[in-house]
Amino acid sequence: MDDRRLTYFDYAATTPVRPEAVDAMVAALAQFGNPSSRYEYGRQAAQRVKGDRETVAQALGCAPGEVFFTSCGTEGDNWAIRRGVELNRRKGKHIVTTAVEHAAVLETCRDLERQGYEVTYLKPGRVDAGQVCAALRPDTALVSMMLVNNETGAVLPVAECVKAVKGYDPDILFHCDAVQGFLKVDVPVARLGADLVAVSGHKIGAPKGVGALYVKKGVRLRPLLTGGGQEEGLRSGTEATAQIAGFAAAVKAVMADKTRLERTAAIKGYTLAKLKEAVPKLEVISQGDAAHICAVTLPGYKSEVVVRVLGDQGVCVSSGSACHKGKPSHVFAAMGLPKPWLDGALRLSFSPDSTREEAAALAAALKGAAEGLFPTMS
Ligand code: PLP
Repeated sequence: MDDRRLTYFDYAATTPVRPEAVDAMVAALAQFGNPSSRYEYGRQAAQRVKGDRETVAQALGCAPGEVFFTSCGTEGDNWAIRRGVELNRRKGKHIVTTAVEHAAVLETCRDLERQGYEVTYLKPGRVDAGQVCAALRPDTALVSMMLVNNETGAVLPVAECVKAVKGYDPDILFHCDAVQGFLKVDVPVARLGADLVAVSGHKIGAPKGVGALYVKKGVRLRPLLTGGGQEEGLRSGTEATAQIAGFAAAVKAVMADKTRLERTAAIKGYTLAKLKEAVPKLEVISQGDAAHICAVTLPGYKSEVVVRVLGDQGVCVSSGSACHKGKPSHVFAAMGLPKPWLDGALRLSFSPDSTREEAAALAAALKGAAEGLFPTMS
């Protein structure tokens, strides 16, 4: 299928690489020096990375010295959680997180459980500062809470929870997975007050293979990757200069688009209305507080089949997070949705430039699928 004709509503899975990012990457690839080299090529590359770090820091709302480039959001989450709990080893081995985190956090917590840590998983519906505080204990080392849920678009009250946790014990480290929140909510994510914040490039028009971890000044996190001592000794490995350049260029372009959140929310609202009109049996699981994500369901239908049928017509949506690969969503299950709703759950995610024509194409394809397939009421 010619991909220029695809109707894409899966921007939470990944985004097209912005032309500004491509241009910046091509320029960085041509300037091939290793930033650690002491001659002109190296100095040029180091200078470029310095500028890119300043750009990303500005978008995060922090100082450049608090930004450490990573390979992806998953690396940032792993680094923050694994080294965060280690940093607080003397306090104890208790972690608080939510049942709706991305696998990058949940699987890391499960691995730590196998190493003797105890993890409290807060249930969705009422994750708030009170619930977080009730879970804290004298041996709590770390709290990890996402900013925007990747399947429902729910925005979690991270700033209030940080305040409550620090009020209970300022030494408890607070990590925030802001992969779906970075530049998608109107607060610079490092200003939420968390000690550690992970973000990823490919959700905002940068290439895959680059992300960043914000480490608040004064937090003495040890590296996950050891070696040549790049990134102030905190993340070894020769800097991915081209990916980093693409990341910074995408950040700049997104920040310059001042109406992006309003436009995204407007097309999401329009699309949901069109879908309800075209497919009356469609139910909304979550409108999504964040502008770019919502979740719907065709109760009783099999979402993998619906996704495949839509895909065959060039319409791209997902049956939950792209990382599930057909397994039922732990997020929707944790929300206690009835089985027919779980089975038929679809995630729709938007860009500020998603169009009404695309919304119409999605509505027509979904109507066709709802009429052509049979629900398996169980
Ligand atoms: N956290 C959340 C909330 C995500 O949505 C994702 C990716 O979908 C990740 C972490 C992982 O990010 P990456 O794909 O950059 O490893």
